Amino acid sequence: MSLFASVEMIPGDPILGLSEAYVADARPGKVNLGVGIYYDEQGRIPVMRAVRDVEQALAREAKPRGYLPIDGMPAYNQATQKLVFGAESPLLAAGRVATSQTIGGSGALRIGADLLKHVLPNAKVALSNPSWENHRLVFSSAGFEVVNYAYYDAETHGLDFAGMLADLGKLEPGSIVLLHACCHNPTGVDPTLEQWKQVVALVKERGLMPFIDMAYQGFDKGIETDAMAVRLFAESGIESFVVANSYSKSFSLYGERVGALSIVGKGREEALRVQSLVKRTIRSNYSSPATHGGALVAGVLNSAELRAVWEQELGEMRERIHGMRAGMVEKLAAAGEPQYGFIQQQAGMFSYSGLSKAQVDRLREEYAIYAVGTGRICVAALNRANLDTVVNAVAAVSR
Ligand code: PMP
Repeated sequence: MSLFASVEMIPGDPILGLSEAYVADARPGKVNLGVGIYYDEQGRIPVMRAVRDVEQALAREAKPRGYLPIDGMPAYNQATQKLVFGAESPLLAAGRVATSQTIGGSGALRIGADLLKHVLPNAKVALSNPSWENHRLVFSSAGFEVVNYAYYDAETHGLDFAGMLADLGKLEPGSIVLLHACCHNPTGVDPTLEQWKQVVALVKERGLMPFIDMAYQGFDKGIETDAMAVRLFAESGIESFVVANSYSKSFSLYGERVGALSIVGKGREEALRVQSLVKRTIRSNYSSPATHGGALVAGVLNSAELRAVWEQELGEMRERIHGMRAGMVEKLAAAGEPQYGFIQQQAGMFSYSGLSKAQVDRLREEYAIYAVGTGRICVAALNRANLDTVVNAVAAVSR
């Protein structure tokens, strides 16, 4: 009898399953709004101009591929710190931030979770309700008990801010609270600046450990504004917090697995001690990160010229999404469904559309339009060629 006989089949990731069904669908004009990927106007995953420049230079140089340090490329980590915390950040000047290149934002979350389990073994982890599905899996796999705090208000399609504050206020001191820096996945609903200030004050007062996940910097208002939450925590006087950031979307480098974990400590000496623990955690997971994606990101961020090109293109992507949101709302209103105005208020690649499971099923079965069962749609997968198809179908299932 096989020693694996007791292993049960685990259901596949519902979103990836949706993509498989989409690929297998032979109907022309099918649209996949189930993904978490930015597509350009032609429906392609862009290769960004600045990235292509660095890639061509790297190909010409044909450098050897030795191992990177456990915590990654120094040039990548320094550029990441400036992007996440701001070039003039007093925290950086004080040496309080320990940053490590990781295998995507997911790697940063998992390394951060493993590290926190070591430091705060009995802490609970609070996630927004809802949150990115993998958050629960990452933190529970690291051994944490995961709880929820109120977040999305289905009535208003906005933030249940009172509920959020009430739930965060009930957490034990030393609890870990996972916060989405911007462009909340899956809802597209973010706190305002004033609301963030209150969240930061509450987290400080309760002695919670903030763990900020920033996977969409630059996708809502801009690189600096989208990092507002990180900047507020940095200014708050809170001594320790954690930031996981991802370049998957902002550099359109999904498969290169580019991310970073930054841990803020009380001072330089504490940051060094924490970094030694981060390195041991990485060593025991995957030993060291990957060279190619890191070299692409570092090459862009450390060249003033290429960085400007990258910012320009990221801005174009952001504007394209805003345009699609506006177009969808306007066209839905013209089709007699004015109740979708909130889609324009939501931020980033996703919207909680308010479509029910039954409506999502009809979209797929009758119109070959794929969305997540929760009603999450990826507005970054809309374009001028598919917008009318989507709008007409959404209007039809809304009647
Ligand atoms: N956090 C959130 C909120 C995300 O949406 C994602 C990607 N879907 C990640 C983290 C992980 O990013 P990566 O693909 O770089 O691992």
